[in-house]
Amino acid sequence: MSNKLHIYNTLTRKKEKFDPINPPFVGLYACGPTVYGDAHLGHARQAITFDVLYRYLLYLDYKVRYVRNITDVGHLENDADEGEDKILVKARLEALEPMEVVQHYMNHYHLNMASLNVLPPSIEPRASGHIIEQQELIGKIMAAGYAYEVNGSVYFDVNAYNQNHPYGQLSGRKVEDLLSNTRALDGQSEKRNALDFALWKKADPAHIMRWPSPWSEGYPGWHLECSAMSTKYLGMQFDIHGGGMDLLFPHHECEIAQNVAGYGAPSVRYWMHNNMITINGQKMGRSLGNFITLDELFAGDHKLLEQAYGPMTIRFFILQAHYRSTLDFSNEALQAAEKGYHRLMKAMEQLDALKAGNESSFDVTSLTDRCHKAMEDDMNTAMLIGHLLGAVTQINNLAEGKESLSKSDLESLRSLYHSYVYSVLGLTPPEASGTSDEITGHLMELILQLRQEAKSNRDFQTADRIRDGLTDLGINVKDRKDGADWEIL
Ligand code: ZN
Repeated sequence: MSNKLHIYNTLTRKKEKFDPINPPFVGLYACGPTVYGDAHLGHARQAITFDVLYRYLLYLDYKVRYVRNITDVGHLENDADEGEDKILVKARLEALEPMEVVQHYMNHYHLNMASLNVLPPSIEPRASGHIIEQQELIGKIMAAGYAYEVNGSVYFDVNAYNQNHPYGQLSGRKVEDLLSNTRALDGQSEKRNALDFALWKKADPAHIMRWPSPWSEGYPGWHLECSAMSTKYLGMQFDIHGGGMDLLFPHHECEIAQNVAGYGAPSVRYWMHNNMITINGQKMGRSLGNFITLDELFAGDHKLLEQAYGPMTIRFFILQAHYRSTLDFSNEALQAAEKGYHRLMKAMEQLDALKAGNESSFDVTSLTDRCHKAMEDDMNTAMLIGHLLGAVTQINNLAEGKESLSKSDLESLRSLYHSYVYSVLGLTPPEASGTSDEITGHLMELILQLRQEAKSNRDFQTADRIRDGLTDLGINVKDRKDGADWEIL
């Protein structure tokens, strides 16, 4: 297939034709999670965005090496160089080894991603497994004169770097403006300049995650891992680096500076960033009480949720917006997505059962063109889904015999829907997507309500019959003050 894909490059702020460095090979890197808590909607959007890009590139016949990292060390509480390591904080709270915290949330992340039908990456490197590579890069940056050591910690020298290479290109910020908006150093700081960032931090006596280095026993700065691991697996120059908009500054800006300083040239050809999810128009944040994890969404277990939402509803909801638009969560929007998803899946079923006629009463080629164009235009899944849903009426008509398609047109239509819906968008039919869990949930709610009504009417015989019947099915009912809980044994 000829490639007409254009992608919006955050670095040049333009849509550019996708022109891989070494076709048919494509190197794709996307920042993965810091594993110290359950994955939430924001994680889902980022993972699904780059999953669809990965799937789409495969669909275009590229050979893609997709690297998505796991941050398991060095990400400090305020995303900069102060505060404690997020994983250590959690480990102390739960009296666990830091690597137990990492393993637990990493396993859980993988389960969540599998529910959302996000493909595993080709390589999933962990920061703690690449300490040597990170130390080597620090050595190179120091040798080039762009980093300095103070008391066993090493900092990137943004001023020195900015004299030879503009710092701030990706985010469109200038060092002077950044400085005037940054709190001045308080004299306690080891840094020469407020914009400098840590490449290596000396560990306090209480800090468990530590490694020996030429500078001190310590740990790497958060930004360093992505520079070291992306180039290790994808080469000094590679095609696409993705992440959420929240990572654009400082994380990705620092990555560019590290690569230029250490390797002599930038490594990434196209930078892609997905936009954020808002909740009822508000930014999502732990402190705002509107932080919804994927588990809570799947179970309907959060005060903002009117019901449970299946993983495919979430996936459809996310893909119904273009990745660069903000996406606002609301029950209304998710319920609309649930309907849209089921409408599309019903059409998929109809499509598989259709019989060909002698001639075609509508134009499959033009629909196909419109679908291709939508994805070629910066991966516009919103537009693609619009086209696919738009033609559902015709598929309904075909099923009812009101329209017809020739054998070859019917085959084209089937292959169009199968490729885009299943392979590229990564949607799966309801049976496989956990939607049967939703139905079970609704049914149990209904049954337990009936039992509660029987009890209120002092009809204990019926209430007990329901409970015993459920027990026979392996469902355990536990009475509470205001209702009942249930679990499948
Ligand atoms: Zn990263």
